[in-house]
Amino acid sequence: MIEAEGLTKRYGERLAVDSLTFTIRPGQVTGFLGPNGAGKSTTMRMILGLDTPSAGVVTIDGKPFTAMDNPMREVGALLDAKAIHGGRSAYQHLWCLAQLGGIPKRRVDEVLELVGLTGVARKRSKGFSLGMGQRLGIASALLGDPKVLMFDEPVNGLDPEGILWIRNLMKSLAAQGRTVFVSSHLMSEMENTADHLLVIGRGRLIADCPVHEFIRKN
Ligand code: ADP
Ligand code: ADP
Repeated sequence: MIEAEGLTKRYGERLAVDSLTFTIRPGQVTGFLGPNGAGKSTTMRMILGLDTPSAGVVTIDGKPFTAMDNPMREVGALLDAKAIHGGRSAYQHLWCLAQLGGIPKRRVDEVLELVGLTGVARKRSKGFSLGMGQRLGIASALLGDPKVLMFDEPVNGLDPEGILWIRNLMKSLAAQGRTVFVSSHLMSEMENTADHLLVIGRGRLIADCPVHEFIRKN
Protein backbone atom coordinates (compact mmCIF):
# COMPACT_ATOMS: atom_id res chain seq x y z
CA MET A 1 0.00 0.00 0.00
CA ILE A 2 1.24 3.46 -0.93
CA GLU A 3 -0.10 6.44 1.01
CA ALA A 4 0.46 10.11 0.25
CA GLU A 5 -0.66 13.01 2.40
CA GLY A 6 -0.35 16.56 1.09
CA LEU A 7 2.52 15.47 -1.16
CA THR A 8 3.99 18.54 -2.83
CA LYS A 9 7.00 19.35 -5.03
CA ARG A 10 8.12 22.79 -6.04
CA TYR A 11 10.83 23.43 -8.62
CA GLY A 12 11.62 27.11 -8.13
CA GLU A 13 8.38 28.93 -8.86
CA ARG A 14 6.79 25.90 -10.49
CA LEU A 15 4.45 23.70 -8.48
CA ALA A 16 5.07 20.34 -10.17
CA VAL A 17 3.04 18.32 -7.63
CA ASP A 18 0.41 20.11 -5.59
CA SER A 19 -0.86 18.64 -2.28
CA LEU A 20 -1.64 15.09 -3.43
CA THR A 21 -3.45 12.89 -0.95
CA PHE A 22 -4.18 9.32 -2.02
CA THR A 23 -4.04 5.64 -1.08
CA ILE A 24 -2.94 2.99 -3.57
CA ARG A 25 -4.25 -0.41 -2.54
CA PRO A 26 -2.85 -3.90 -3.03
CA GLY A 27 -4.45 -6.54 -5.25
CA GLN A 28 -5.27 -4.21 -8.11
CA VAL A 29 -3.64 -2.15 -10.82
CA THR A 30 -3.87 1.57 -10.11
CA GLY A 31 -3.36 3.75 -13.15
CA PHE A 32 -1.82 7.21 -12.96
CA LEU A 33 -3.29 9.16 -15.88
CA GLY A 34 -2.32 12.65 -16.98
CA PRO A 35 -0.78 14.59 -19.86
CA ASN A 36 2.97 15.07 -20.22
CA GLY A 37 4.23 17.45 -17.57
CA ALA A 38 1.32 16.78 -15.21
CA GLY A 39 3.59 15.57 -12.40
CA LYS A 40 3.46 11.77 -12.70
CA SER A 41 7.20 11.07 -12.78
CA THR A 42 7.88 13.57 -10.01
CA THR A 43 5.30 11.84 -7.82
CA MET A 44 6.81 8.42 -8.53
CA ARG A 45 10.31 9.69 -7.81
CA MET A 46 9.15 11.02 -4.45
CA ILE A 47 7.55 7.68 -3.58
CA LEU A 48 10.95 6.08 -4.28
CA GLY A 49 12.93 8.63 -2.30
CA LEU A 50 14.69 9.85 -5.46
CA ASP A 51 13.22 13.31 -4.99
CA THR A 52 12.50 15.08 -1.69
CA PRO A 53 9.00 16.46 -1.18
CA SER A 54 8.74 20.22 -0.60
CA ALA A 55 5.87 19.38 1.74
CA GLY A 56 3.81 16.37 2.78
CA VAL A 57 4.72 12.72 3.24
CA VAL A 58 4.53 9.51 1.30
CA THR A 59 4.93 6.01 2.73
CA ILE A 60 5.00 2.43 1.49
CA ASP A 61 3.37 0.02 3.92
CA GLY A 62 3.69 2.67 6.60
CA LYS A 63 7.34 3.58 6.07
CA PRO A 64 9.08 6.19 3.95
CA PHE A 65 11.26 4.55 1.29
CA THR A 66 14.40 5.98 2.86
CA ALA A 67 13.61 4.25 6.17
CA MET A 68 13.41 0.75 4.71
CA ASP A 69 15.97 -1.84 5.75
CA ASN A 70 15.89 -3.67 2.43
CA PRO A 71 14.10 -1.53 -0.17
CA MET A 72 14.56 -4.01 -3.04
CA ARG A 73 12.41 -6.52 -1.19
CA GLU A 74 9.66 -3.97 -0.59
CA VAL A 75 9.35 -2.07 -3.84
CA GLY A 76 10.43 -2.46 -7.46
CA ALA A 77 10.26 0.21 -10.13
CA LEU A 78 10.69 0.68 -13.84
CA LEU A 79 11.51 4.33 -14.38
CA ASP A 80 13.78 4.79 -17.38
CA ALA A 81 14.79 1.77 -19.44
CA LYS A 82 17.55 3.69 -21.24
CA ALA A 83 19.54 3.95 -18.04
CA ILE A 84 20.24 0.22 -17.87
CA HIS A 85 21.69 -0.30 -21.35
CA GLY A 86 25.38 -0.93 -21.23
CA GLY A 87 28.26 -3.20 -21.96
CA ARG A 88 27.22 -5.86 -19.50
CA SER A 89 24.93 -8.79 -20.12
CA ALA A 90 21.44 -9.02 -18.67
CA TYR A 91 22.72 -11.73 -16.35
CA GLN A 92 25.61 -9.58 -15.07
CA HIS A 93 23.32 -6.61 -14.58
CA LEU A 94 20.85 -8.61 -12.50
CA TRP A 95 23.55 -10.43 -10.58
CA CYS A 96 25.13 -7.12 -9.50
CA LEU A 97 21.76 -5.86 -8.31
CA ALA A 98 21.09 -9.15 -6.52
CA GLN A 99 24.36 -8.82 -4.60
CA LEU A 100 23.46 -5.27 -3.58
CA GLY A 101 20.08 -6.41 -2.30
CA GLY A 102 21.24 -9.63 -0.63
CA ILE A 103 19.13 -11.63 -3.05
CA PRO A 104 20.00 -15.29 -3.81
CA LYS A 105 21.50 -16.13 -7.21
CA ARG A 106 18.68 -18.48 -8.16
CA ARG A 107 16.29 -15.53 -8.14
CA VAL A 108 18.29 -14.08 -11.08
CA ASP A 109 17.45 -17.14 -13.18
CA GLU A 110 13.87 -16.97 -11.96
CA VAL A 111 13.28 -13.38 -13.07
CA LEU A 112 15.08 -13.93 -16.39
CA GLU A 113 12.62 -16.75 -17.02
CA LEU A 114 9.66 -14.59 -15.90
CA VAL A 115 10.47 -11.85 -18.44
CA GLY A 116 11.47 -14.24 -21.22
CA LEU A 117 15.15 -13.25 -21.45
CA THR A 118 16.74 -16.58 -20.48
CA GLY A 119 17.92 -17.24 -24.04
CA VAL A 120 19.78 -13.93 -24.41
CA ALA A 121 20.87 -13.45 -20.79
CA ARG A 122 24.59 -13.84 -21.54
CA LYS A 123 24.64 -11.41 -24.47
CA ARG A 124 25.64 -7.77 -24.06
CA SER A 125 22.51 -5.78 -23.35
CA LYS A 126 23.79 -3.01 -25.65
CA GLY A 127 22.32 -4.89 -28.59
CA PHE A 128 18.91 -5.14 -26.94
CA SER A 129 15.81 -3.73 -28.61
CA LEU A 130 13.67 -1.26 -26.66
CA GLY A 131 11.31 -4.09 -25.75
CA MET A 132 14.14 -6.28 -24.47
CA GLY A 133 15.58 -3.37 -22.49
CA GLN A 134 12.17 -2.88 -20.98
CA ARG A 135 12.01 -6.56 -20.03
CA LEU A 136 15.42 -6.27 -18.37
CA GLY A 137 14.22 -3.21 -16.46
CA ILE A 138 11.19 -5.19 -15.31
CA ALA A 139 13.39 -8.15 -14.33
CA SER A 140 15.40 -5.74 -12.16
CA ALA A 141 12.21 -4.46 -10.54
CA LEU A 142 11.00 -8.01 -9.81
CA LEU A 143 14.33 -9.23 -8.43
CA GLY A 144 13.55 -8.62 -4.77
CA ASP A 145 10.07 -10.16 -5.16
CA PRO A 146 8.60 -6.88 -3.88
CA LYS A 147 5.03 -6.37 -2.73
CA VAL A 148 4.85 -2.98 -4.43
CA LEU A 149 5.64 -2.34 -8.11
CA MET A 150 5.73 0.94 -10.00
CA PHE A 151 5.98 1.40 -13.76
CA ASP A 152 6.43 4.85 -15.33
CA GLU A 153 5.03 4.86 -18.90
CA PRO A 154 6.07 1.24 -19.45
CA VAL A 155 4.50 0.72 -22.89
CA ASN A 156 5.95 3.83 -24.57
CA GLY A 157 7.58 2.86 -27.85
CA LEU A 158 6.81 -0.84 -27.56
CA ASP A 159 5.35 -3.05 -30.29
CA PRO A 160 1.85 -4.57 -29.81
CA GLU A 161 3.26 -7.85 -28.53
CA GLY A 162 5.35 -6.06 -25.91
CA ILE A 163 2.39 -3.93 -24.87
CA LEU A 164 0.17 -6.99 -24.36
CA TRP A 165 2.92 -8.73 -22.43
CA ILE A 166 3.38 -5.82 -20.01
CA ARG A 167 -0.38 -5.43 -19.51
CA ASN A 168 -0.76 -9.12 -18.66
CA LEU A 169 2.23 -9.03 -16.34
CA MET A 170 0.81 -6.07 -14.40
CA LYS A 171 -2.54 -7.84 -14.06
CA SER A 172 -0.95 -11.05 -12.84
CA LEU A 173 1.19 -9.17 -10.31
CA ALA A 174 -1.96 -7.53 -8.96
CA ALA A 175 -3.77 -10.89 -8.91
CA GLN A 176 -0.95 -12.18 -6.68
CA GLY A 177 -1.96 -9.48 -4.18
CA ARG A 178 0.78 -6.99 -4.99
CA THR A 179 0.32 -3.24 -5.25
CA VAL A 180 0.79 -2.14 -8.88
CA PHE A 181 1.04 1.55 -9.81
CA VAL A 182 1.44 2.42 -13.50
CA SER A 183 1.51 5.78 -15.26
CA SER A 184 0.41 6.66 -18.77
CA HIS A 185 -0.73 9.71 -20.71
CA LEU A 186 -3.14 7.48 -22.69
CA MET A 187 -6.68 6.76 -21.51
CA SER A 188 -6.81 3.76 -23.87
CA GLU A 189 -3.89 2.21 -21.99
CA MET A 190 -5.64 2.71 -18.65
CA GLU A 191 -8.91 1.21 -19.90
CA ASN A 192 -7.04 -1.94 -20.84
CA THR A 193 -4.88 -2.29 -17.75
CA ALA A 194 -6.08 -0.50 -14.66
CA ASP A 195 -8.77 -1.28 -12.10
CA HIS A 196 -8.49 2.03 -10.29
CA LEU A 197 -7.48 5.42 -11.58
CA LEU A 198 -5.72 8.47 -10.20
CA VAL A 199 -5.99 11.32 -12.67
CA ILE A 200 -3.55 14.21 -12.42
CA GLY A 201 -3.45 17.56 -14.22
CA ARG A 202 -1.00 20.40 -13.54
CA GLY A 203 0.13 18.71 -10.37
CA ARG A 204 -3.36 18.35 -8.89
CA LEU A 205 -5.47 15.26 -8.37
CA ILE A 206 -8.55 15.49 -10.60
CA ALA A 207 -10.06 12.04 -10.00
CA ASP A 208 -9.57 9.05 -7.72
CA CYS A 209 -12.08 6.32 -8.60
CA PRO A 210 -12.59 2.95 -10.29
CA VAL A 211 -11.79 3.07 -14.01
CA HIS A 212 -15.35 2.14 -15.05
CA GLU A 213 -16.70 5.03 -12.98
CA PHE A 214 -14.31 7.48 -14.66
CA ILE A 215 -15.38 6.23 -18.10
CA ARG A 216 -19.08 6.54 -17.23
CA LYS A 217 -18.67 10.14 -16.05
CA ASN A 218 -16.48 11.37 -18.91
P1 ADP B 1 4.97 13.84 -16.14
O1 ADP B 1 5.71 12.67 -15.62
O2 ADP B 1 3.51 13.80 -15.83
O3 ADP B 1 5.20 14.07 -17.61
P2 ADP B 1 6.84 15.41 -14.58
O4 ADP B 1 6.68 14.94 -13.20
O5 ADP B 1 7.99 14.89 -15.37
O6 ADP B 1 5.47 15.16 -15.39
O7 ADP B 1 6.93 16.98 -14.60
C1 ADP B 1 6.04 17.82 -13.87
C2 ADP B 1 6.49 19.26 -14.00
O8 ADP B 1 7.67 19.45 -13.24
C3 ADP B 1 6.81 19.69 -15.41
O9 ADP B 1 6.42 21.02 -15.57
C4 ADP B 1 8.31 19.55 -15.47
O10 ADP B 1 8.84 20.44 -16.42
C5 ADP B 1 8.72 19.91 -14.06
N1 ADP B 1 9.95 19.23 -13.64
C6 ADP B 1 10.11 17.90 -13.52
N2 ADP B 1 11.35 17.59 -13.08
C7 ADP B 1 11.98 18.78 -12.93
C8 ADP B 1 13.29 19.15 -12.49
N3 ADP B 1 14.19 18.24 -12.11
N4 ADP B 1 13.58 20.46 -12.45
C9 ADP B 1 12.67 21.38 -12.79
N5 ADP B 1 11.43 21.11 -13.20
C10 ADP B 1 11.09 19.83 -13.28
P1 ADP C 1 2.91 -20.44 -8.29
O1 ADP C 1 1.96 -19.67 -9.17
O2 ADP C 1 3.51 -21.63 -8.95
O3 ADP C 1 2.38 -20.68 -6.90
P2 ADP C 1 4.35 -18.35 -7.06
O4 ADP C 1 3.31 -17.30 -7.33
O5 ADP C 1 4.46 -18.95 -5.70
O6 ADP C 1 4.16 -19.49 -8.14
O7 ADP C 1 5.75 -17.78 -7.49
C1 ADP C 1 6.99 -18.40 -7.22
C2 ADP C 1 8.01 -17.33 -6.98
O8 ADP C 1 8.06 -16.43 -8.08
C3 ADP C 1 7.68 -16.46 -5.80
O9 ADP C 1 8.86 -15.88 -5.32
C4 ADP C 1 6.75 -15.46 -6.42
O10 ADP C 1 6.58 -14.34 -5.63
C5 ADP C 1 7.51 -15.20 -7.70
N1 ADP C 1 6.67 -14.77 -8.78
C6 ADP C 1 5.73 -15.49 -9.42
N2 ADP C 1 5.18 -14.80 -10.40
C7 ADP C 1 5.79 -13.61 -10.38
C8 ADP C 1 5.68 -12.46 -11.16
N3 ADP C 1 4.83 -12.37 -12.18
N4 ADP C 1 6.46 -11.45 -10.84
C9 ADP C 1 7.31 -11.50 -9.82
N5 ADP C 1 7.49 -12.57 -9.08
C10 ADP C 1 6.74 -13.61 -9.34
